[in-house]
Amino acid sequence: MDWQQVFATRNSRMKASEIRELLKLLDQPDIISFAGGIPDPALFPKDDFQAAFSDIFTSDQSDTALQYSVSEGYKPLRDWIAVQMADLGVPCDVDNVLITSGSQQALDYLGKLLISPRDTMLIGWPTYLGALGAFNAYEPTYDKLVPFGNRTASDYAQAATDAGGQVKAAYASVDFANPTGETLDRAARERILALADDLDIAVIEDAAYQALRFDGEAIPPILALEVARKGDIEACRTIYCGSFSKTLAPGLRVGFVVAAKPVIAQMVLLKQASDLHTPTLNQIAVERIVRDGFADQVAKIKKVYGARRDAMLAALEAEMPKDVQWTRPEGGMFVWLTLPDHLDGAALLAQSLESERVAFVPGSAFFADGSGRNSIRLSFSRADEATIAEGIKRLGALLRRTG
Ligand code: PMP
Repeated sequence: MDWQQVFATRNSRMKASEIRELLKLLDQPDIISFAGGIPDPALFPKDDFQAAFSDIFTSDQSDTALQYSVSEGYKPLRDWIAVQMADLGVPCDVDNVLITSGSQQALDYLGKLLISPRDTMLIGWPTYLGALGAFNAYEPTYDKLVPFGNRTASDYAQAATDAGGQVKAAYASVDFANPTGETLDRAARERILALADDLDIAVIEDAAYQALRFDGEAIPPILALEVARKGDIEACRTIYCGSFSKTLAPGLRVGFVVAAKPVIAQMVLLKQASDLHTPTLNQIAVERIVRDGFADQVAKIKKVYGARRDAMLAALEAEMPKDVQWTRPEGGMFVWLTLPDHLDGAALLAQSLESERVAFVPGSAFFADGSGRNSIRLSFSRADEATIAEGIKRLGALLRRTG
């Protein structure tokens, strides 16, 4: 059967990337991998999970945990999130919070909620690959979100009309972004809000790494800046997406959305139609752990990742040729390297796997138009300091040979 004949058009933009094929090689044990942006499993709070799950099954909560439940999510967890959001400058109540199966599901729902074919999404150039993956299914057009660029709201609106739709949202990974590691400063956040106000569009604030700040001063979320201006979350256009994947464990698939009630109410309908609810067992376990131990867990992982970030930056300083530039993230998991123009990240990866046994992700994967070929993303979350030093040394040697 020719399946392409029956697949809906939305599938045409959902392709497996060549890079993912290359990265399959990573399972080989001698590879030093800076590729996957995933947590170190040694930092999962396993004892806490064991205690939480055991408590659930020896208490009368086990029936609730295993039964169907409401789409909005487990109320005590939503309450806890509402309190956390108030601490971040976003007073809200439980009905402003929806639990999702990871923040990735929130991105999918937001695509479904906002994008009709040919509508425009404003995104970073580069941006989070998984956001492109989530939005692509809804057949958008992409335009560059440049907070301090010289294009006005009407320039953006005109470009969207020319593309056959309208601008619907600006999407930004705000703190220690995936892939660049960079943080939007307060002025950039204010500019994005002002642009969104002028265009009358939503802002999708991806705060997946928000808790992982090692140093420097925390910057209020875009949603907090907007609440400060407009007085109430119900007047706000920003949709905040959070996650427990980077702080507790991604395998749980517990994330959340915080937004004005009409947005949450519509997303609840999408969730009902999609998976009914996020596994209750996992939500209850997360609530038990964060209730008493979130601050300690976050402090523990920040210490480890912070030391790895330091090791990576020190090694880059020592080993990279002069014509390579890189970001200096204040948190998160990523450093972004810009190579000389004539170098290609994908070709370099193939060489690096072959001769250096070092892996990373070529930067072009993160650009909606496949540009940015002379960039690469390095993650410092998985390797210890000595391995980071060795991997960067090998990469530096390769770049000196090829550059
Ligand atoms: N947003 C960003 C920027 C990410 O890097 C990730 C995970 N790689 C996600 C969202 C999705 O994470 P999760 O679904 O596990 O919450």
